[in-house]
Amino acid sequence: MTRFIDVSAVSRLVGKTGVETFFRGMVDFIEADYRRWEAFDKCARVANHSEIGVIELMPVADQAQYGFKYVNGHPSNTARGLPTVMAFGALSDVETGYPTLLSELTLTTAFRTAATSVFAARQLARPQSRSMAMIGNGAQSEFQAIAFHTVFGIDELRIFDVDKNATDKLARHLMAFPNLKVIKSESASAACEGADIVTTVTADKRWATILTADMVEAGMHINAVGGDCPGKTELAKDVLDLSSIFVEFEPQSRVEGDIQQLPADHRVTEIWRVLKGLEAGRESDSEITVFDSVGFALEDFSALRYLNHLAELHSEGETIELVPTLDDPKDLFSLTVPAAAALEQKAA
Ligand code: NAD
Repeated sequence: MTRFIDVSAVSRLVGKTGVETFFRGMVDFIEADYRRWEAFDKCARVANHSEIGVIELMPVADQAQYGFKYVNGHPSNTARGLPTVMAFGALSDVETGYPTLLSELTLTTAFRTAATSVFAARQLARPQSRSMAMIGNGAQSEFQAIAFHTVFGIDELRIFDVDKNATDKLARHLMAFPNLKVIKSESASAACEGADIVTTVTADKRWATILTADMVEAGMHINAVGGDCPGKTELAKDVLDLSSIFVEFEPQSRVEGDIQQLPADHRVTEIWRVLKGLEAGRESDSEITVFDSVGFALEDFSALRYLNHLAELHSEGETIELVPTLDDPKDLFSLTVPAAAALEQKAA
């Protein structure tokens, strides 16, 4: 049987664990899998684009488990009452292919994306960083804010969105964190002024320039989350030219990240190499670092493993018959017999 974790079960797991502990655990699982980078069979995600959005499949496997995520990105969805990003995913046993877990991943993606941002910032931002600007105050923004506050130690957040209602919503939710000083800024540049870290998490399926070189200061760490598709960027090219750039999986980031604006030989560093001490991360307090996040399958694999672990611990989720249980594995047809009998009975 397959464990099934729906949205309500994830909400309950967050409630039972506490949001800070939930985030810390997620960061630990992601970091543990990045440490085992070479153990994974990796590929760039498979994307099917339309005029207004994208639907993607993100597989990855080690010797024991295979995982995948289905995820979309439709910036116009919110106007239709749907989230921009929706996702689900599965884990299976490599030895047999048996699906062991089927889970919601919309809520979980927001947690894993923020946890990945913190994981990268721990290696790239100045350790004494306390203030962060956040441009884009939509669905992902609370998760970024809370992860950076509770796990990283950010205590001042300047927020800006072209949609004032989104900024108000974010500020309202963050009132639950009294030790986080939240400042609503008049513009993206006002938010960035003097910030140690700048997070861009906007959604617009086009070449956007959320951050330009005049908004960037020595020593800043830029956590660029929203530029994650071909033709969908957030950073002006001159910001990239000023910075040391770190990515998740280079073949995917070259196509989807802000670095799609750069020549193919422009130097970027995969973050696992910094984690394992194979390459330097930040080398001085004045260096500008960019984490050009696009979201990599390994992070979803870690998130699925983490949910599975918590579900086991807290007896959450249910078991479903996703694939047949058969007395004779060669007799699949027997499953149709009760249905055929019922039809015959009805006809009689
Ligand atoms: P959302 O639609 O809920 O919110 C996006 C916000 O950006 C909106 O409030 C919008 O008004 C604002 N915005 C758009 N243009 C802006 C501009 N020029 N200046 C300021 N604000 C602007 O979307 P979301 O679910 O929060 O996702 C945000 C982005 O993050 C999306 O692009 C999504 O694809 C991306 N994302 C990346 C990852 C990753 O792993 N890197 C994971 C999940 C989502």
